[in-house]
Amino acid sequence: MDEWLVQLYTFLHKQPGLNNIIKLKPILRLEDDRQVSPFNRSSSYSRSETANAYLLREGSSKFPLVKRSLLTDDTVYAFLKGIGLSEPDIVDEVLKCILPLYQTGRFALVNDMRYQQSISDIQEALQRTSHRARQELISTLNKTPFILASNVKMSERAWKTPREVYSKTEELLTWFEGNEQIWFIAEPFPESLCGDLNVPTHLRPSARTTTDTSGHVVIRDVRADHVRGLHGFDPDAKLDGLEYALDHITSDKARMLWDFLLKHRHLIKGVVETSKYTTFSDAQRKEISSPIGLLCSHKAWLPDENGDFYSPDELFLTNLPEGFEKSTDEARELAIKLGMQKEEVLQLADKLGIPHEVISLIQHNPAVILAWYQEQERKKVSLPSSLANDPDRRREKATEAAYSATVKTYKAVSMNKRISAGNSEVKIYLRNHHTNEAGQLICQLCNQAMPFRLPNGEEYFEAYQYTEVLGKEYEANHLALCPNCAAEFQHACLTDENERADLILNVDSTVNEEDLIVYLDMPAHCQLRFTQSHLIDLQAAIKDWLEADPVSPEQESSISAT
Ligand SMILES: [Zn+2]
Repeated sequence: MDEWLVQLYTFLHKQPGLNNIIKLKPILRLEDDRQVSPFNRSSSYSRSETANAYLLREGSSKFPLVKRSLLTDDTVYAFLKGIGLSEPDIVDEVLKCILPLYQTGRFALVNDMRYQQSISDIQEALQRTSHRARQELISTLNKTPFILASNVKMSERAWKTPREVYSKTEELLTWFEGNEQIWFIAEPFPESLCGDLNVPTHLRPSARTTTDTSGHVVIRDVRADHVRGLHGFDPDAKLDGLEYALDHITSDKARMLWDFLLKHRHLIKGVVETSKYTTFSDAQRKEISSPIGLLCSHKAWLPDENGDFYSPDELFLTNLPEGFEKSTDEARELAIKLGMQKEEVLQLADKLGIPHEVISLIQHNPAVILAWYQEQERKKVSLPSSLANDPDRRREKATEAAYSATVKTYKAVSMNKRISAGNSEVKIYLRNHHTNEAGQLICQLCNQAMPFRLPNGEEYFEAYQYTEVLGKEYEANHLALCPNCAAEFQHACLTDENERADLILNVDSTVNEEDLIVYLDMPAHCQLRFTQSHLIDLQAAIKDWLEADPVSPEQESSISAT
């Protein structure tokens, strides 16, 4: 039987004119003794032919092969080659035998020898870079779920297309951490194949890259409808896993994203031109943020030095922690595109002497700051005033009053203690001179109203003696103090008793009443304020005492001790 076929083929080899006819006649004997035509046409009008069998003298193939015993005859081999049959081809084999298995999803999810064999066949096929069917191979590969992948979150396994998977690099593992939408190629998988299939190994944007002659991105280019993004901007630019990463931000992801955005800052925000003309004359311009830009400007993902995350509009470039590129022009440009706080604000803060962190505190808590301001306004009480109608007349009268003041009396008790003169008159005196228009008695040291009232309705305050050196009871030698300031004055005032008297004499009682101030050596409140009448009276008292008894305070205290 085979012998007869050898004779037939030898005869036909001499009749090349019959080639077109015999191509579609069942003259071919296969290894399994089936009889087929050399080629198939998809339709009678079609010119493209698919071989039904291949020529292979040695080795194995998944393709149907022409009966090998026939091929030992060189004339037969030459005849079959002559009508267009060929040796099996790895690209064809992948396209026709391997990928269809994966397209039907018939493979069980086991890491078997077959998978490894398929992968190495695909790898080999892709290396035939000048093959006529290369484009078809690549587009079929991209549509075929032939890659075994595992889910980053659930460690599930599934078949995925090259477009659906990522390489398991450290960068991508960090970026997609916890994101269950993401599938990584299950290992082992040849690295070169990842490259050939264009599987991502690092963060990269999905954005148009086709540009026109002036370097602008072509978005639409049809008759009377031309759209382009200026300077590399694509309004549809996206980044895989961005929203998830922003919602589950860590400092590593934030730094990674910052570096990514530095490199791709042209994709954040840009101008899109629309025109009826290819020349873009009379173009309409619009500034747009891409999906990348929108997400990165509004989510809280930028860390400050403490590792707390803020949205860009809450942060200055200088607030970013170590490890973030922030001093370059690129970083400043990025900060502007993201809408970060402006450096001018910081310069203003520096001018005003306000610490930078206080600036953002003010900006982010306007309600709190306003409430604080109102509280301060409320606290601002009006100062009391007690102006003398005729200061000279008051000085005269004060001198007379001082002269007729009672001399302090002492009584020997366990300690030398002065018996207090009529304290109620002193209090009435102080009340008269230190109550403001609103009826509040104001402390001479802290300028605040007295903190509470007694059950009888009167404000509680301390009438504290100003200086011990005076030997007479002068009402004016007392201060109206709140309990706090009284304690501070009593226990922490380091200004010596004599100096206190001198300080009073040095104040010009005719200046503006607000400036009638004596500076004391005290830890918290060092400005002692007087009303004009009170000051005139006290000056008169001190002068009176000096005229009457100009002895030194040491002698004075020893006299009074007897
Ligand atoms: Zn006070």
